[in-house]
Amino acid sequence: MPRKIAYGENAAKEFEYPENCLVVTTTTPDIYEKWLSYMGLKNYEIYDKVTPDPAIETIEEIKKKYEGKKISTYIGLGGGSSMDVCKYLSKLTGIPKILIPTTFGTGAEMTTYAVVSFDHKKKLLQDEAFLADAAIVDPYFLPGTPFNIMRNSACDAMAQASEGYDSKLGNPFTRLFCKEAFDILENAIMNDKPELLPYGAMLSGIGFGNSSTTLGHALSYVFSNEGVPHGYSLSSCTTVAHKFNKSPYYERFKKVCQKLKFEPLQLKQPLDQAADVIMPDRGHLDNNPINVTKQDIVKCLGDIVNSNPLI
Ligand SMILES: [Zn+2]
Repeated sequence: MPRKIAYGENAAKEFEYPENCLVVTTTTPDIYEKWLSYMGLKNYEIYDKVTPDPAIETIEEIKKKYEGKKISTYIGLGGGSSMDVCKYLSKLTGIPKILIPTTFGTGAEMTTYAVVSFDHKKKLLQDEAFLADAAIVDPYFLPGTPFNIMRNSACDAMAQASEGYDSKLGNPFTRLFCKEAFDILENAIMNDKPELLPYGAMLSGIGFGNSSTTLGHALSYVFSNEGVPHGYSLSSCTTVAHKFNKSPYYERFKKVCQKLKFEPLQLKQPLDQAADVIMPDRGHLDNNPINVTKQDIVKCLGDIVNSNPLI
């Protein structure tokens, strides 16, 4: 866990930021200007050209652009992509990072994971250097989030909590966080209490961040590589993975996805070819509670695209 965690209403407003920060964000000036004035940031630089599933080339471009500008700290402000870019930049340059989620799904502010695309393929990386120097979780950023982004983020957080619960790397401590996270997130969605999402996503980050996600996330990357948003692809992928694993969360996860009205997924590439992309993803598959063969992957992909797993 990050050594410094500022949580709650006004946490981002009351935090004392250093000068000469570089703010990295995925959002647009009309939105982030309001956020930055709330945070009271002074003398900062801003990079707002980060896109979802950031490529290594983008990160290297930012590093080059701000070399010699005496940046004191990176601030990742936005969804998982903004935070992942800061994590990787910080590893390259040694400059510290403050991570502030605004969509509350990935839990990236709590973890040592980063997802970066190499050659148009998403790759899950882990490094102690990716851990935030400070994480700020403030529900201020939640209102106004478009429904699509909210539901994809919530689905990601719930997939992470439940896959993390089932992970072979889990222990009673991580399962405590995963279980609590899932209960809170489920309550937030099923009973229309979105204000609970930031806390649930944060707990999910602590839980899965120390036990890893599993088959559901492994299956999802071939859909993301074809442009499906991360959280969206997990609705079907984690449901099918939970069924395969006989997860205690199978029914509950599916019910939440039904409530969020996710549609079935399609895949352009042949299933066999997609399975070849998924099989080397040992970071996810080795932690799956049940051993997974290539035939199992093809079968799971078939269940995702040939029928509606959310019915
Ligand atoms: Zn995820």
